[in-house]
Amino acid sequence: MSEISTLDWRNGGEPAGEVVIREARVVDPHAGLDERRDVVVRAGAVAELAAPGAAELPDAEGSEAGELCLVPAFFDPHVHLRTPGREDEEDLETGTRAAAAGGYCGIAAMANTEPTVDTPEAIEALRERAGREAAVPVGFLACATRGMRGDELTDMIELRQAGAVGFSDDGLPIRSARVMRRALQYQRIAGGVLALHEEDPELSGKGVMHEGEVSAALGLAGIPTVSESTMIARDCALAAYEEARIHVQHLSARESVATVAAAKAAGVAVTCEATPHHLALTDEDVRSLDSAYKMNPPLRSEEDRLALVDALRSGIVDCVATDHAPHSIDEKEVPFEAAAMGVTGLETAFAVLHTALVLPGTIALELLLERMSGGAACMGFDPPRIAPGAEANLALLDLDAQWTPGAEGWESRSANCAFAGRTLRGRVMATVVGGRIVYRNRAFALGVAA
Ligand SMILES: [Zn+2]
Ligand SMILES: [Zn+2]
Repeated sequence: MSEISTLDWRNGGEPAGEVVIREARVVDPHAGLDERRDVVVRAGAVAELAAPGAAELPDAEGSEAGELCLVPAFFDPHVHLRTPGREDEEDLETGTRAAAAGGYCGIAAMANTEPTVDTPEAIEALRERAGREAAVPVGFLACATRGMRGDELTDMIELRQAGAVGFSDDGLPIRSARVMRRALQYQRIAGGVLALHEEDPELSGKGVMHEGEVSAALGLAGIPTVSESTMIARDCALAAYEEARIHVQHLSARESVATVAAAKAAGVAVTCEATPHHLALTDEDVRSLDSAYKMNPPLRSEEDRLALVDALRSGIVDCVATDHAPHSIDEKEVPFEAAAMGVTGLETAFAVLHTALVLPGTIALELLLERMSGGAACMGFDPPRIAPGAEANLALLDLDAQWTPGAEGWESRSANCAFAGRTLRGRVMATVVGGRIVYRNRAFALGVAA
């Protein structure tokens, strides 16, 4: 495991100043901490958890946090930054600004760009660019197969040496069990995570939404849940056989939850993620035929959603991932069948799950916080903590703030968010990464103290 700030970002390597956050409610589920404290950050690390009101603010960047909640910052293991190739939809600067606004101290970027990221040179170029442009640390994944064609493996060992944090053909499954087996064999040697978009293209066919009552009513081609769960079963079996480690992306179906649960119980090294949209929405939302609800895997039934929520609670689902997938207006403002799959999510993830799951009492705030940062460990990084000596990766939240995503625009270059226009409660007011304030909400003045 290594520290998140060692990933590539524009403040990496430079010394950080002093930040003091006074009298916040400090919640760290790992430490079992939920108390009012002053938090002092020095040289990039948490230096002190002092009694409320005890810490001074000499020359420090600081704030009276009052009714705010200070928590470990979040980590997203699944983001599409559309760079290189589709900078009209997102680039490293806008995508990481969206992440900072969402309370994230680190993200993992997928390799299904144009061209795909499948050479050491491509990884090096992105890392160098992130070092100039990224507001928060970014770990780049490389493709598992060349050009994501699914037949020939990339040079996984060289890619790791060039700094790839892992491998994924996300956007597409690895169809061939033979190729998957080889990828697992190389994962064991190269290290880094192998992150899997699990889908059987034969079963998905031309499906555009979840196969069920709603697809039947709308007359749209469906994607059955078993398209996902059968591939997860195959890959858990192969990972067990090769003693390799896999991370299953965007779990959507109850059969998938059962499959991962069985694999974990059998000792397979598998972790998995679920998205805010799969945890908060269902295929009933698709009745509107609004393309903001079109993504892959699709929004599933209420039974599937409830199974995912249970799995989030039990830890079968290790972490929340947004699968932030920016798309241009002309890819989305077309009939539902023709629209591109994918939604943005970095700026709304915490608020969506706080509103949908914590406020009604379905899950505890502490549990949500643990899962929001759980992606760090899945990607091989130290989980964010609020403890003396820990790297200072912090998010300051206003749990009562009510807001409407999109009303003031987006940090992301794209606007295809499934939650735009809804009323959400809970908002990120500031984000600290490696001791630096990388985001401040306009409604909140976290300023330099005199
Ligand atoms: Zn995917
Ligand atoms: Zn994705």
